[in-house]
Amino acid sequence: MDSKPNPLRILFFPHLAHGHMIPTVDMARLFARQGVKATILSTQLNVPFFSKTIERDRELGFEIDVLVIKFPSMEAGLPEGIEVISSITSQEMGFKFFKAVSLLQQPLQRILEDCRPDCLVADGMFPWGYGCCKEGWGTKAVPGIPDKITMTRRQQPTELRESGANVEITNTTEKPWVTRRQQPTELRESGANVEITFPRTGTTYVEHYRKTLGRKSWHIGPLSLCNNNTEDKSQRGNANDASIDRVKFLRWLDSKKHNSVLYICFGSVSWISAAQLNEIAKGIEESGLDFLWVLRKTNKDEDEWLPKGFDERMKGKGWIIRGWAPQVLILDHEAIGGFMTHCGWNSTLEGITAGVPMVTWPLSNEQFINEKFITDILRVGVGVGAQEWSRWMEGKKLLVTKENVTKAITEVMLGEEANNIRNRVSALKWMAKRAVEECGSSHSDLMALLDGLGLNSI
Ligand code: UDP
Repeated sequence: MDSKPNPLRILFFPHLAHGHMIPTVDMARLFARQGVKATILSTQLNVPFFSKTIERDRELGFEIDVLVIKFPSMEAGLPEGIEVISSITSQEMGFKFFKAVSLLQQPLQRILEDCRPDCLVADGMFPWGYGCCKEGWGTKAVPGIPDKITMTRRQQPTELRESGANVEITNTTEKPWVTRRQQPTELRESGANVEITFPRTGTTYVEHYRKTLGRKSWHIGPLSLCNNNTEDKSQRGNANDASIDRVKFLRWLDSKKHNSVLYICFGSVSWISAAQLNEIAKGIEESGLDFLWVLRKTNKDEDEWLPKGFDERMKGKGWIIRGWAPQVLILDHEAIGGFMTHCGWNSTLEGITAGVPMVTWPLSNEQFINEKFITDILRVGVGVGAQEWSRWMEGKKLLVTKENVTKAITEVMLGEEANNIRNRVSALKWMAKRAVEECGSSHSDLMALLDGLGLNSI
């Protein structure tokens, strides 16, 4: 690729969590492919999660690199080695972690002064990102979050600046998957209804979003689609995790019939009690379906919750991955016929983009809203019957029973409605693919954004 003499330089600063780093790295790569000089800012221990991918893009001639910011573990009283949310093992550690994150403000300001990028895309979890830009180096600033990024006025095209609007980049396409991402408790407290009035009312979500929030936005996703080869897909998010022998498990999947295997994964940070895991195991076994189940490394002590003899009985039928799974690679496999998900926004988009019907099991954050979107609006999934929202790391009083698990997965994989769900989600898959192709809505939005930032005028 010919590099321009003065490419637009954008600094991307994702929150230190896989669910934020993954789409931000995808976004930075997408921008680099359009001639932007992209730099991803992260801490030492997080860099290996994406460095191989970045290296491959550099070999292809794209201008993308990584800048390390020191994580202030000691200053926050954290032990060394905890630089990503998924490593947190107690609430106390969580508080210290967020304290350390807040201490990144000053180092960020110094970095901005040194590097003077044209634009900063900072995570919404860093609300001080905007301040750093404003105070630090005047005119060029953009805060935001990985899948919903707010930019400062100064970096916006003039007409936006004059209108005083904020700008957001979202990990969505023009069409269906924009949802309001409020916290359920806030909503409950405000007494507001969550209305998801998508297309049938005549306006798309994008328009609804723009009108309601009065913000200009560019919808450039699904970002996961920028991973278009097996290597990118298999290393996405955690390039060095050796939890599974990829060749072996892909062969296992190859040996299964199309749409016959249920994939179960609750994201990168969720906590699920031993009693609940036990119900899941019994529910899957009762269904008789083949499955691929990702367990986080924190779900230890399997002797205590795994039903007796489960491993033995499930030989050949099921595969448990203890650690990190290459989710996008798995979802794209023809054998996968259903996805039991916690409805994290990345997972939701990835399930839709792969055309896989979902069993929805929201746990916290905005996941219950996302569930409604999947089951009631798009009608591409069936709820498992989760009733209780709780904060991250807080336990739940209500269990989802094994009967509910069996019922939901059977409905999605085998029931009468299963084919209809599969047809609907397949249609969305193709819409998503078209959106990111040249002339597609996401591609056009990306081009409009880069134009607005002045890429082509340099
Ligand atoms: N992910 C993965 N392998 C795992 C667990 C998670 O690739 O074993 C990826 C998943 O594909 C998604 C992200 O991690 O891109 C999780 O983001 P999401 O918003 O779904 O949930 P969160 O982890 O933020 O709760």
